Amino acid sequence: MAFWNRKKKKKVEEASSASENPIEAAADSSSSEDISSQAENVGETGEEDAASAENSSSASEETALESEEGNHASTEDLSSEVTASEKADAVSDEEKGSSKAEDEASEEENESSEEEKPKKKEGFFRRLVKGLAKTRANFVKNMDYVFRGFTNIDDDFYEELEEILIMGDIGVRTTEEILDELKVEVKTEKIKEPEACREILIRLIRDRMFVPEDAYDFLNQKSVIMVVGVNGVGKTTTIGKLARKLKDSGKSVLISAADTFRAAAADQLKTWADRAGVPMIGGQDGADPAAVVYDSVQAAKSRGTDIVLVDTAGRLHNKKNLMQELSKMNRVIDREYPEAHRETFVVLDATTGQNALQQAREFDEVTDVTGIILTKMDGTAKGGIAVAVQSELKKPVKYIGVGETAEDLERFDPDDFVEALFRQKEED
Ligand code: GDP
Repeated sequence: MAFWNRKKKKKVEEASSASENPIEAAADSSSSEDISSQAENVGETGEEDAASAENSSSASEETALESEEGNHASTEDLSSEVTASEKADAVSDEEKGSSKAEDEASEEENESSEEEKPKKKEGFFRRLVKGLAKTRANFVKNMDYVFRGFTNIDDDFYEELEEILIMGDIGVRTTEEILDELKVEVKTEKIKEPEACREILIRLIRDRMFVPEDAYDFLNQKSVIMVVGVNGVGKTTTIGKLARKLKDSGKSVLISAADTFRAAAADQLKTWADRAGVPMIGGQDGADPAAVVYDSVQAAKSRGTDIVLVDTAGRLHNKKNLMQELSKMNRVIDREYPEAHRETFVVLDATTGQNALQQAREFDEVTDVTGIILTKMDGTAKGGIAVAVQSELKKPVKYIGVGETAEDLERFDPDDFVEALFRQKEED
């Protein structure tokens, strides 16, 4: 008991001292490349200037990083001689022929993806079970040990459970809520056997995770998805995986490489875009991200693209700059593409535990987060973070990543998650 208590105290202290401002902490700990001057420029340029067609031309004239497979406008097409709308029209005309072929191809893909659905789902479920192995080996095993090891439901029993849930990154507040509900059920149902608490606890954990029915409505309309997250969480990889996934399900996708602070980010993203066979529009290093977004939405409108995935800078030296930059991009979309459905996904690295939770809070303060993508669930023994983020932030986890390949991203399904987590045998 004393051992758990010591660990608990330490854990609670760690949780509460998780970086005060992880967004800034990530900025501080990143490479020496100084972005502050660029952040200042963003502020000085002014939203109208930055988002103007002229400005956007200059940002994109030599820099549209189009995928060959995407077979979209070439760099030369986007010459600075023409206005942004002329450019967009030109792109549209040029693409008419190819888009029909793309449509036919995607219809075929649709049919085949429908047929393959059960197989694909099963495939991912296996990966999910495998991906959650570390978590299962850690807190689920410890939990079973408590259920079997205790003969009475007493304070010690609840204390042990509390330790295990907190250690599994379910979060202090969520753990308290879950245990309060458990205690009420034990009392009202007159439960005497600790073992009988297992199923109740699983249900209570399941109930903390809530994915609203309209969570995936963005898939059925023209949408722009801003993807935010600090560097290293797996944002680039996730955008690549998502692009591939959406394309495979018959959607047309465009990647907007608006993280112009990191040259490597655009290169890496281009590799994913090529792999997924989707076009990408970017800007020169240090170009105004809002101008890249402007070009991207113009292209998406003229091409009739279903979903635009916008990669945003994961490292800004303070919250004010981050807020300025995101709101500037959002204003461009509001103005240029008001009919588009909007989402903002924050990508969080599950292995960073409570710090991930704090990052999500910070991003939610500067922009309206509509969904969470949890990456590296395969690399953590504390998969309880999936419960904590949903329970504490009241935001749905929409996708989870359980590996580094394109197939290792799937919609988050609370039932599958709980089943994979608490399943007794790994091999079935
Ligand atoms: P970014 O800086 O946020 O854009 O991060 P990257 O996309 O470059 O990813 C950082 C590292 O995390 C890379 O090595 C990725 O392969 C890895 N990564 C991303 N998602 C996952 C995941 O779901 N599981 C595992 N194991 N690794 C991942």
